[in-house]
Amino acid sequence: MSGEAFTVSSARHVTEKAPRMLLHICCAPCSPYVVERLRRDYNVTLYFYNPNIHPESEYVLRLREAARWANQIGLPMIEGEYDPESWFQTTKGLAMEPERGARCSVCFDIRLSSSAEKAAQLGFDIYGTALTVSPYKQAAVINRIGLMAAERQNIIFIEADWKKKDGYKITTRMARELGFYRQNYCGCLYSRRSKIRPERPGGHERV
Ligand code: SF4
Repeated sequence: MSGEAFTVSSARHVTEKAPRMLLHICCAPCSPYVVERLRRDYNVTLYFYNPNIHPESEYVLRLREAARWANQIGLPMIEGEYDPESWFQTTKGLAMEPERGARCSVCFDIRLSSSAEKAAQLGFDIYGTALTVSPYKQAAVINRIGLMAAERQNIIFIEADWKKKDGYKITTRMARELGFYRQNYCGCLYSRRSKIRPERPGGHERV
């Protein structure tokens, strides 16, 4: 593990003049390390937009946990629309895709396109996502999709692979310390059905 000490604090890390970033998060347990890193340089607002999460009761659980934590550390959080019907429509025909396959790329595109659009609408300087902290997710795929969405909205996307430099281990430890609710599947109906992921600390998405 990196020797870097990461703790959660409610203190502001940057001045009001720092660039404003909209940071897409998928859930609370994936996010603390990424947020603590970014708060050093940006005024961060969290964006919870995850229409992939199924069922709705699970969505509410993850949303509430993220909102509780955002409130605790003094960061604003915006909830995107929960529109699972649209998510199912867009991923139609991809139910049998393996994880890390075409369905996941579409799922990333849905979430990052919305993040870029929201960031542009609200006048943020930059947007990003915490998705790449998971060892089950391919940063190259997510970054490519994030950049394309940024280009469409004429906004900057921060490319990152947050799992590097022990990011995954650190965020897992922080999530444990914070006592977060930890899900045991990535999010969508198909990942829930497969449920082949063993119970893991941090509750990270499986892809
Ligand atoms: S497995 Fe995860 S990333 Fe892939 S489609 Fe389902 S929710 Fe989205």
